Amino acid sequence: MFAEQSIAMTKTIPELKQVASQVRRDIVRMVHGCQSGHPGGSLGCTDFLTALYFSVMEHNPQFSMDGVGEDLFFLSNGHISPVFYSVLAHAGYFDKSELATFRKLNSRVQGHPTTHEKLPGVRIASGSLGQGLSVGIGAALAKKLNGDNKTVFTLHGDGELQEGQIWEAAMFAPHHKVDNLIATVDVNGQQIDGPTDKIMSLIDLAAKWTAFGWDVMTMNGNDMEDVVKVLNDAKGRTGQGKPIVILMTTGMGYGVDFMMGSHKWHGVAPNDEQLAAALAQLEETLGDY
Ligand SMILES: [Mg+2]
Repeated sequence: MFAEQSIAMTKTIPELKQVASQVRRDIVRMVHGCQSGHPGGSLGCTDFLTALYFSVMEHNPQFSMDGVGEDLFFLSNGHISPVFYSVLAHAGYFDKSELATFRKLNSRVQGHPTTHEKLPGVRIASGSLGQGLSVGIGAALAKKLNGDNKTVFTLHGDGELQEGQIWEAAMFAPHHKVDNLIATVDVNGQQIDGPTDKIMSLIDLAAKWTAFGWDVMTMNGNDMEDVVKVLNDAKGRTGQGKPIVILMTTGMGYGVDFMMGSHKWHGVAPNDEQLAAALAQLEETLGDY
């Protein structure tokens, strides 16, 4: 009975870009508001999450934890919570005014998502990196057992792939033919302490995932047309015996010129002048919270 309630929001590319501009404004304002948080990865993944929730996924903002009959999304790199919360709010999961409480005491909108606060749209705690792929696999297997033909999506940082649990999950999913799962890796080449190549190189990610038995796709994560096309193509490739991974190239800090292309804005809040400079580059399209 839930299947009829799930919603496919089919916004056009210009409409999706408008949503993304507002989400980027929310991100820098949220992180500025509490002088804490992770703007870089949030800005880089804005187009992806906007496309997912406003075009690609069939989902129901009248939130149920079970998610039967819906496409599901699990944010594994939980520190990019600002983009996740903003997209959920604009998609109708909760009122956008709550974004003003980001990282404040007793807020449901915590620095890293948890289920304890019962924020609609959040189905796992994340922030301890490396766990979300295993959760996604479990949810995807549950859908198969329940005869639920919807798809499970996960998102991971590239630095997150240095976690060992990722590769246990990467081995498990093809063996068990978890072919209703689309994992995306945010390949921005950066992690909190520096470029991934300097911290612990990932070398050839396509070769690694292919060798583990995944159907590997690539995508420009800051080109809305490409994001929508590749995500829909990926959905079309489910049910063919292999889990799917999308290697998504993004720019950390994308959309704000002085935050782009460096790990330096991974976990740093803008000051008042920097906030003003960032907002001058991001059109207010849906109204600030
Ligand atoms: Mg990264």
